[in-house]
Amino acid sequence: MDYNVLFVLCDTLRRDIINLYGGPVRMQNLSNLARDGVVYNDAISPSPWTIPAHVSFFSGMYLNEHGIHETQKLRTWHVTNNNKSIKDRLISGILSRRGYNTLGISTNLLVSTITGLDAGFNTFFNLDTVPTRYQLRQDKDLIKMVRSGYSNSEIAVSLLKKMKINTLFKYGLAYLKTRSTEKALNFPFDKGASAVNMILSSSNWNEPFFRFINLMEVHEPYRHSSYRGPQENFKSERNKRREMSRVKTEYMKEAEYLDLMLGKILLTLKKQGVYDDTMVIVTSDHGQAFNEHGYIDHGVYLYDELVRVPMVIKYPKNRKFERKKGYQSLVNLPKVIVSATEGGDDSDLTTESAFSESYGLNVPISGRDLKNNRPLVNLYERPRKAVFEGGFKLTIEGKTGRIEEFMKDGKDVSNDIKYSKVRKELIDKIDIFKGQEKFLLPE
Ligand SMILES: [Zn+2]
Repeated sequence: MDYNVLFVLCDTLRRDIINLYGGPVRMQNLSNLARDGVVYNDAISPSPWTIPAHVSFFSGMYLNEHGIHETQKLRTWHVTNNNKSIKDRLISGILSRRGYNTLGISTNLLVSTITGLDAGFNTFFNLDTVPTRYQLRQDKDLIKMVRSGYSNSEIAVSLLKKMKINTLFKYGLAYLKTRSTEKALNFPFDKGASAVNMILSSSNWNEPFFRFINLMEVHEPYRHSSYRGPQENFKSERNKRREMSRVKTEYMKEAEYLDLMLGKILLTLKKQGVYDDTMVIVTSDHGQAFNEHGYIDHGVYLYDELVRVPMVIKYPKNRKFERKKGYQSLVNLPKVIVSATEGGDDSDLTTESAFSESYGLNVPISGRDLKNNRPLVNLYERPRKAVFEGGFKLTIEGKTGRIEEFMKDGKDVSNDIKYSKVRKELIDKIDIFKGQEKFLLPE
């Protein structure tokens, strides 16, 4: 029997805010799904930001194998253009070749035709509604400025200075068009989830199917906030605090709304009579840091708020599996998807250890921001690797070989000499994991 797969990726969803994990946000539809499935407590994302994480859980490879990540100097923007061998390993392609009806719907620009993450799918819809995106596809300078956090007026001035009048005109038109679309679609509160639901409810559910959905609701931008991504870190402490209190409240409301949208998707499955024969995966690619460790946004550090993610899987026929000791790295997802489509169990999902990696700053920093924040940018622009094993977590910053975190069950044990042997063992694990990569380890 070829069972179906529905993979719902809730972009930027933090594990610790959800009631299933003891958090304050009641996600009732996720809890209902959990009753028919398995809740995984130790799911780890291989990367703290979108593109590398998606490549990993589509291909089953860690970042140091697939090589798709970004720093200020290295731009590996397009997935399959940069690593041709990935194409054959993508779960979308594997299932398409097995005769699955494969459909991807993404509300995230970074998971789209632009980055090549649509590879392997029979059909892929990009439903990105973030402002100015229409224009982004047409001008390289614009992409850079928007991603660097320039405001609309700064972009206009810059285009005027360069005498790019035609681009400025197009940008203005796109801005107006985007604004009216946003109003009509309740953006930024709804970042495309209702449009996704519209497509799903009217689409053809020919079996067997594989459907991948990326929902952006808890990702920035947020209502009542000028939050602009990693550049938030360049603000004064006072401004950061003010912004974070606004953003956190909004983030929780978005998570509730996200759950409502998830409920609609699950209802469609039930109405179509395919719920029982479908594996439903709900997880996230990374979390969002709200200045807990002096850092805002995602993409640089490997703190728990960023790489420990929620994961609920309902298996075909609502089969349950016993809890196993270890970690559920998202790189194991392709294996467990293949197993579940063939009626198998979840034994490939949990492994003794899991890793997470980052390589530097994944957004371009404008010359002005760089000038004012060089020490901070230098600190962000470094490789980092973390290993999780037996309740321990060790994170190393590989430019200087400094230990950034050494924890046991979430508590700092970096000064506890009784764990020095464990620390050495974990350093050795990272040493093997890093392979030939240039990455300094502690003495
Ligand atoms: Zn993401």
